[in-house]
Amino acid sequence: MTKKRARTQRRADERALDKLVHKREQAARKEPGGAPDTPIPVGSASEVEAHGRGHPCPVCGDPLRVLDHRAVVSGGRSLRVLSVECRGCGRSRELFFEIAARLLS
Ligand SMILES: [Zn+2]
Repeated sequence: MTKKRARTQRRADERALDKLVHKREQAARKEPGGAPDTPIPVGSASEVEAHGRGHPCPVCGDPLRVLDHRAVVSGGRSLRVLSVECRGCGRSRELFFEIAARLLS
């Protein structure tokens, strides 16, 4: 019986952890760069990857690894999408950037 209870407890713990992870992922989407309509402004394309590497994982806080960097157009805006993967927990996510228009050209 004790064994069964331990298993039930573990499942409950896993569910609680899933909920926490989900909550953190939801919160991360509301932060700048978490969605296409809230991109992080950067001065140039070369800043995008440096930004991505400087961003910790929203779930476990470990550094991120850049997987892919591409240009997209969303809602008439030219955005950069950075696909990143956490070095710690392996969760991947996307960060959105907008290259600020230069006033002096
Ligand atoms: Zn992580």
